[in-house]
Amino acid sequence: MTPQARYILMHDDDNVAIIVNDGGLPAGAVFPSGLTLRDKVPQGHKVALVDIPAGEVVRRYNVSIGRARSDIPAGSWVHERLLEMPAARELLGLPMATRAQPTLPPLEGHTFEGYRNADGSVGTRNILAITTTVQCVAGVVANAVRRIKDELLPQYPHVDDVVGLEHSYGCGVAIDAPDAVIPIRTLRNISLNPNFGGEVMVVSLGCEKLQPERLLPPGSFPIVDERSPEAGPETICLQAERHVGFMSMIDDIVQSAKPHLERLNARRRETVPASELVVGVQCGGSDAFSGVTANPAVGFAADLLVRAGATIMFSENTEVRDAVDQLTARAASTEVADAIVRELGWYDRYLERGRVDRSANTTPGNKAGGLSNIVEKAMGSIIKSGTAPIAGVLSPGDSLRAQGLPKGLIYAATPASDFICGTLQLAAGMNLHIFTTGRGTPYGLAECPVIKVATRSDLARRWHDLMDLDAGRIATGELSIEELGWELFRLMLDVASGKKTWAEHWKLHNALVLFNPAPVT
Ligand code: CA
Repeated sequence: MTPQARYILMHDDDNVAIIVNDGGLPAGAVFPSGLTLRDKVPQGHKVALVDIPAGEVVRRYNVSIGRARSDIPAGSWVHERLLEMPAARELLGLPMATRAQPTLPPLEGHTFEGYRNADGSVGTRNILAITTTVQCVAGVVANAVRRIKDELLPQYPHVDDVVGLEHSYGCGVAIDAPDAVIPIRTLRNISLNPNFGGEVMVVSLGCEKLQPERLLPPGSFPIVDERSPEAGPETICLQAERHVGFMSMIDDIVQSAKPHLERLNARRRETVPASELVVGVQCGGSDAFSGVTANPAVGFAADLLVRAGATIMFSENTEVRDAVDQLTARAASTEVADAIVRELGWYDRYLERGRVDRSANTTPGNKAGGLSNIVEKAMGSIIKSGTAPIAGVLSPGDSLRAQGLPKGLIYAATPASDFICGTLQLAAGMNLHIFTTGRGTPYGLAECPVIKVATRSDLARRWHDLMDLDAGRIATGELSIEELGWELFRLMLDVASGKKTWAEHWKLHNALVLFNPAPVT
């Protein structure tokens, strides 16, 4: 029996809907509404529900995703070549903090088992991180990390992992350029991520531009041993004269790791309220289902987190740019709305310097998955933020704690690039990462657990040991958005308490990729 032809409509005023059926549908397929397909339409792609004359607005999520380049009869495949993309909205004359703030009822009684840190933050993992000032030391640190894992870690069973914070920065860069503050504060704040227990240990080369005292000035990091508060960070400098030969460097790093491992190993998980979660959400490898299944479920879970008093960050400048009026309207205050305009305006100019705009975002995979352009992608992306007021805005590389931002829904202004967004959310203080994907990506981080949510059941089936949650069950009608949102919320508490994600199981660790808008030399 041929399965029933189905489409999903996002809003009653939309004139297009997307095809649900696995493998798409052939021309001639008839929907329960009586609409007949004129073309073969791939899964996740759009079908015209009515005749759309040339020049008319094509509407999805009740917003214009473009104008028809020619007459589009009802039942036609509405692909990207038929759409004229609208221009980006100006950043002037926006509605600023105008939306009535919904009062979300508090959600009490939810907890997880976390590691409480001296500064009051809570880790979901107990990891020794070794900070590096420069890429030059990466090979040596990787070697030392291998030895620590092999020789020391078995003696410290309560420590989850040892991670070298390797990156491409530190030298060969214009370190005094104004925008260099972004990569520098990113590295500083990642070193202080709650999953590292406040233990700071630095490996430096010696001659690099980013000196340890500049990366971590006194007062910017906790001192947990007997050193004076004015001292710089505990640093192993490879060029120090006492190092004779490679093994002396390795021995030095391994020895220095011991007291950190001892302190971390003495910690135990304790019951903490869900309000201690700091969740970063992003999407990657998006398709037309992202904005229909996974992202709305994440949005529902985002509201649960806000109701529980937790912090949830959404990001990805180029994927919210076309919805800027929705964001500024949802800001909790005009100051927050101003900060949104400031960050997105700065990003517009950053893109202009490279002679592109936000439309450079969409990938061939996005288009193959049914997303015609960045406007359509943005509307599906922003749903991840739920409905709460935006309580604060974070500049790239800044941390929530250092900036004193309130809990609740935060816009962390970052590029949409998966690795850069994840790196900046780590710097912000994220202790749990939610990642939705439609095309599929094996993304993972060594520093923080990543829960991956598949937008389609077909992907969840094929990548059964890579995807942590199947949001495709919304499209099949098996679960409601609310039910899946609750499932995700409970999974978040389990993973925060130590349950391993698939990316952790397979040790899939993407690199830290810094956002460096400043020149290199
Ligand atoms: Ca992304």
